[in-house]
Amino acid sequence: MIKKMFALSTVLSGILLISGCSQKKEASDINMTSQTRDVFAMDTFMNMKAYGQNADIALSEAEKRILQLEEELSVTNETSDIWKIDHSDGKLVEVSDDTAIIINKAIEMGDRTGGALDITLYPVLKEWGFTTGDHKIPGEQTLKRLLENVDYSKVNIDGDTVSLPEDVEIDLGALAKGYTGDEIMKSMAGNGISSAIVSLGGNVQALGTKPDGSNWKVAVRDPFAPDTDMCIIEIADKAVITSGNYERYFTADDGSVYWHILDPADGYPADNGLVSVTVIGDCGLDCDALSTALFVAGYDGARKLLKSDPSFDLILVSDDHRIYYTEGIADCFTNISSMEAEVISLD
Ligand code: AMP
Ligand code: MG
Repeated sequence: MIKKMFALSTVLSGILLISGCSQKKEASDINMTSQTRDVFAMDTFMNMKAYGQNADIALSEAEKRILQLEEELSVTNETSDIWKIDHSDGKLVEVSDDTAIIINKAIEMGDRTGGALDITLYPVLKEWGFTTGDHKIPGEQTLKRLLENVDYSKVNIDGDTVSLPEDVEIDLGALAKGYTGDEIMKSMAGNGISSAIVSLGGNVQALGTKPDGSNWKVAVRDPFAPDTDMCIIEIADKAVITSGNYERYFTADDGSVYWHILDPADGYPADNGLVSVTVIGDCGLDCDALSTALFVAGYDGARKLLKSDPSFDLILVSDDHRIYYTEGIADCFTNISSMEAEVISLD
């Protein structure tokens, strides 16, 4: 089914942070000191940088929030909301506001993308071994059987109460980091920080500008050579979130490569012409949901969604080595790769 072959020696996710320049600010702002903090959570290396006198306290609070969210959202931790939902045998489960917000968003984005995002794919992901690293190609019959229970519309949510039919299980891996980024930013702002940036694996989120008033420069990785950068995008107060087939994958004995973003239509790795999707927008949760969904939906699906909702920007990379980006970022997008880049036409 999937014939593309890659010679990727390392598994890398997303984006690097580098500094940038434009408007001016007061000298006192420019001279602000910064603090950084590394956290390993949600199976991801996270790096946070905050500027200002309160930076150390703000980083500690943000770290606490990350660990709290990990506890609520982990699919394997037996006290998490998700574990309780997945082992509820059809009974009602009371969840945190965080979990409820993310599940509601997952259902909304499932609807908006024609089911490309489906949080009930979890049993299929387990069968492929993407949850444990013990990879295997599922048999056709097994996939068929498991797909019978894949349907996000079977998730019932009413306020903070969730129920699922037996045999349906969910996982919020496609959205959890985007929400976490949003919550880090809220926590930082609540602690008096106006300039901060975080990288959660492939996801970058920025609070404000750099202290000197300049935009943050964020490098997006080349999906064909993930240890090099493909383009630079200048942002302030935005999330830049990438889903790519190079982030988690395995190579079968015959050389075929299988990656971790599955198409709910057939249970196989989504192979609809895109190898990387970066979504740029105000809300990390929306961007994260969309990056995974549009990876599945492909170029035409992405274009269709953009036409109905122009509130986000995109950088798409196709499997024939072309970059497509939205008009909205034309002035802050720099292609540093040898691939051709063109604006996505909405006509
Ligand atoms: P992301 O890195 O945000 O694209 O999320 C990828 C993760 O989402 C995978 O590792 C799976 O846990 C999960 N996933 C894979 N395919 C889908 C899908 N079509 N819908 C929802 N979640 C998915
Ligand atoms: Mg995602």
